[in-house]
Amino acid sequence: MTTSHSAPLGHLINGQRVVGGSRSQPVFNPATGQAETTVMLADKTTVEAAITAAQAAFTSWRNTPPLKRARVMSSLKVLLEQHADELCEMITREHGKVLSDAMGELQRGIENVEYASYATELLKGEHSKNVGPAIDSWSEFQPLGVAAGITPFNFPAMVPLWMWPMAVACGNTFVLKPSERDPTSALRIAELALEAGLPPGVLNVVNGDKEAVDTLLQDPRIKAVSFVGSTPIAEYIYSEGCKHGKRVQALGGAKNHAVVMPDADVPNAVNALMGAAFGSCGERCMAIPLVVAVGDETADAVLAGLKTELAKIRLGSGFDAQSDMGPLVTRAHFDKVKGYVDQGVKEGALLLVDGRGAKVAGHEAGYFLGPCLFDHVKPGMTIYLEEIFGPVLGVVRVKTLQEAMDMINDHEYGNGTCIFTRDGEAARYFTDNIQVGMVGVNVPLPVPVAYHSFGGWKRSLFGDLHAYGPDAVRFYTKRKTITQRWPAAGVREGTVFAFPSSR
Ligand code: NAD
Repeated sequence: MTTSHSAPLGHLINGQRVVGGSRSQPVFNPATGQAETTVMLADKTTVEAAITAAQAAFTSWRNTPPLKRARVMSSLKVLLEQHADELCEMITREHGKVLSDAMGELQRGIENVEYASYATELLKGEHSKNVGPAIDSWSEFQPLGVAAGITPFNFPAMVPLWMWPMAVACGNTFVLKPSERDPTSALRIAELALEAGLPPGVLNVVNGDKEAVDTLLQDPRIKAVSFVGSTPIAEYIYSEGCKHGKRVQALGGAKNHAVVMPDADVPNAVNALMGAAFGSCGERCMAIPLVVAVGDETADAVLAGLKTELAKIRLGSGFDAQSDMGPLVTRAHFDKVKGYVDQGVKEGALLLVDGRGAKVAGHEAGYFLGPCLFDHVKPGMTIYLEEIFGPVLGVVRVKTLQEAMDMINDHEYGNGTCIFTRDGEAARYFTDNIQVGMVGVNVPLPVPVAYHSFGGWKRSLFGDLHAYGPDAVRFYTKRKTITQRWPAAGVREGTVFAFPSSR
């Protein structure tokens, strides 16, 4: 392993930037199609070095008073705010999303750091006096040891911040493996954490691919794994991690439906759907790729509104303040999304707006796909069933709310959904009975705030506890319950064979 402060992008182990491994891959600017950085792909030895550093830092960090750990998070929040422009530029350069969207992502990440700074309050535990004669009992929440996080490309700053700030605030140490497609911002944030006072080794970052991930999954020193990414990999992480005795939460893919009721405020619903379907080029796990319109009149009104708005959408570099939508993340992803549009046409959905020929002047080699809009999408079609993760919105026509809900409940994914309506009874029935983890009422992207927790149902989440918020405190700690008595000196007590109870 050699130390480096310049390209290629390496890892952060024990507080030092290192270049580990012999394999590397280019990181592209999706707006230009040019490789602007190279990222090292950590080998087993490099990942093991990161785990060793995290293990060595654990005892001292675990015993650091929670208030001191929390203060590091408060300092980090300030540093993240001060470095917001720099971080958002990194995100836009490698992901492609427009700068204002990068800023939204970073702000949501910062809110998780802020929540982690309340660790003293969150780790207080539970206490009961006199659970028996002169017996007191309390539960405390102890850190697990070394935890790992494996994150996707689509929120390169925010999703890592869902994980490690709370993990370390709870007294764990951490190894983060960000997406190799846009790794720069996570590494830079880890450096800011050092500047904020996080001791070396408490947070380590390894860049890499399957070799790095498999090392984390198999090493017995890793006690817990948080994963966010696609469902096939989430399922693999969950089963491999559990097989190796780890606590695992693995958040997967999605196919989120928005129901539009006949009484909905259609212009407002259309505006909301535009952002939810095409913001970040549809590369959000809470994006809305499907509208379920109740009644043909509703469908026609929504489609007319969408067509009008889509004619105004501005496609361009994320650095251009005029752009609403940037490029897709890679050439391979562009080809995949375009392939779904071709497939939708082949399977008989009606393509009303076709973004396949879109061009952005001056960015001819960028991965730009214009927005696409389908009518007459039907359950069973590939574009209905599979996650596309691009700027492709399909409208499904149904006759009743119940038909819409049955369809949503039958889908393999259950991440997010929403209903547009002015009918409280319908909204209440929907929120109560829909088999989805995060539900909006006239809110298209019901992403929980940092002090709630985030997670889908069905094949959108493998594991029990959701990400960030109160669930994260439980995920990154083990409950220990202590029952204590101090018998009076010199008093002899008889043997009791009955099971101790309050009888
Ligand atoms: P991905 O599954 O390809 O990659 C996620 C992580 O897994 C990356 O760090 C990657 O290096 C690693 N990985 C990829 N292939 C692997 C393999 N074979 N073995 C081990 N590790 C592997 O996901 P992505 O394309 O980066 O992100 C998009 C996906 O993430 C979408 O499906 C999206 O819905 C999902 N996502 C879900 C949530 C959520 O909260 N549910 C949030 C954001 C993104």
